[in-house]
Amino acid sequence: MATGQGASGWGRGGLGAWGRAAVAALAAWMACEVQAAEADAPQAGVQGLHARVQFHAEAPGEPGGIAEVLDRSQRMRLAALRQAEPAPEAVEVIRASFIAVMAAWPRAPQVSLLVTRAPVIAESLLGRVIVASEALAGLPEAQRRFVLAHELGHVIEGHWARMGMLYRKHVPGAVDPEHTQAVAQVLGREASALAHEQELAADAFGLRLIQRMGHEVGDALAAFRCFGALPDTATHPGTRKRVAHLHALTAEAQVAPSLTAASSD
Ligand SMILES: [Zn+2]
Repeated sequence: MATGQGASGWGRGGLGAWGRAAVAALAAWMACEVQAAEADAPQAGVQGLHARVQFHAEAPGEPGGIAEVLDRSQRMRLAALRQAEPAPEAVEVIRASFIAVMAAWPRAPQVSLLVTRAPVIAESLLGRVIVASEALAGLPEAQRRFVLAHELGHVIEGHWARMGMLYRKHVPGAVDPEHTQAVAQVLGREASALAHEQELAADAFGLRLIQRMGHEVGDALAAFRCFGALPDTATHPGTRKRVAHLHALTAEAQVAPSLTAASSD
């Protein structure tokens, strides 16, 4: 089960520099993993959304609607993330876990992996790219798989597309300052609620997938236990809610047999 871990020297023993980096990055993942439109300002919430939409709206020569704005925002982020080269050993470890996670899903998803030196341990961009920090290599295998499976959940369940639909509902036409300012508050609230819902859904997906791989809910919980409780953010439910949700899923139990049914979502 410990594919690629033992050979790399990042074991379960005391936390080395990699382990400490992993814990810090994991905290960032839980607190401000970037979803949808919060790509440029993960902690700024509604204000960040407002400012960014306004910025884009005021940028000269910006064609198209809100979907293009969001898409461009994530493509820019992806380009920035590609700048720094990650450690090859970390890439190897993470890629092995990624392959194992992908193999556990019954159909080949359209998704690629990008390992970076980003401070946030993992995120999904454009609905098809899973970005993982090299620090993810410092986690135990099962926890790394849970993080990757969570991100795969965002991709498989089409969260990016759904978020885009929400934005288009509120900003159906061209992105002009007058319109975006008027809807920014309500859009921010609805986007935040949807993002929270999607996080819990991705946690559920991740749990089901790692259980299918022979891991347990304790492995997922361990990832959340590495550090103290984090509060709610605009994009993420706080640690307590996420942990309670995993416990509830386990109590309802028999989550594993419903794995295949998850694809209908
Ligand atoms: Zn997530």
